[in-house]
Amino acid sequence: MTVYNFAAGPATLPNEVINKIQAELPSLEGSGMSILEISHRSTLFDNIINGAQEDLRDLMAIPDNYEVLFFQGGGTGQFAAVPLNLATDHHRIALLDSGHWADRAAKEAANLGITVDTLATTKADHYQELPVLPAPLATDTYDYLHITTNNTIEGTAYHELPETNGTVLVGDMSSNITAQRYNVSDFGLIFAGVQKNIGPAGVTIVIVRKDLIKEIPHLPSILNYDLFAKKNSMYNTPAVFSIYATGLVLKWIKENGGVDEMQRRNEKKASLLYDYLDHSKLFHNNVKPADRSLTNVPFMTGDEDLDKAAIADMTAHGLMSLKGHRSVGGLRASLYNAMPFDGVQALVNELYTFERAHV
Ligand SMILES: *Cc1c(COP(=O)(O)O)cnc(C)c1O
Repeated sequence: MTVYNFAAGPATLPNEVINKIQAELPSLEGSGMSILEISHRSTLFDNIINGAQEDLRDLMAIPDNYEVLFFQGGGTGQFAAVPLNLATDHHRIALLDSGHWADRAAKEAANLGITVDTLATTKADHYQELPVLPAPLATDTYDYLHITTNNTIEGTAYHELPETNGTVLVGDMSSNITAQRYNVSDFGLIFAGVQKNIGPAGVTIVIVRKDLIKEIPHLPSILNYDLFAKKNSMYNTPAVFSIYATGLVLKWIKENGGVDEMQRRNEKKASLLYDYLDHSKLFHNNVKPADRSLTNVPFMTGDEDLDKAAIADMTAHGLMSLKGHRSVGGLRASLYNAMPFDGVQALVNELYTFERAHV
């Protein structure tokens, strides 16, 4: 039985990448040493981290006036690092509350003594659509506006970015980096834990405009953008294996046509599933169609026991990790870059079989 992994993160990786890791694991490039045991100060690793950075620059068309940095600590680490490094003039940020992860970002910034103005929220609508700015952003008031480009749990995504009126835009792109095309220069900073779409857990990518990086006293070194930029992300031991594996995924994306092709494939996969759900007599997705995510699709029957039965049925057919997040319930299919069209087709087929047996 072919197994398809619909987990939200850590998530499915391309088979070609897993096979390459397996083949290279005992001896990296004929060195007689494993990636698991080489020094981060070695030439071997230098080539890996620089290659990963170059491939990401190439894939996302990252302009030269941006740094690409690799941190540990996940998206959650960046909820602290971003305000500590960027909220240094006004000590005030604006935020659009689009769900669980935006809320976490707001709470972490507030914890650090930053004033957080949540300018719009769709919490009352269970985040089934994106919040929009109620009025043009006040100029020279906020250090930045924080958005979550893709809401992993609620299944929404920004296909058009909010107009910031000159305020720096910060995007948490953890769950759709390289899954759809964004213009990097629309952002002052983008961050993403790689484990949703482009690698195994352990590394968090930060893409930041160079003029926003300042020398700030009293910052923990591990969250310090200036220090990491000066040390090529190797102030201390980086997540060696995770950077290596992420580099392999980025190469795989390049070999498979790049971000535009990923987006085309993701649109095709997502349409197949949304189309089924919109015609189903059993399952439904409640997200406003214009705001629907390409990478995370929550859906449910409206009956918890039936949802559970559906998850068990899918699992028995090799369609794994479809349980929805506890805050939304139901099921959730994550359709990241590495999920093949055939996996989504198999899911839709089995959902339809389940539907016919239960209505
Ligand atoms: C998963 C996720 C996070 C949190 O990432 P961690 O690496 O677990 O800290 C933050 N933002 C978004 C959009 C996510 O999907």
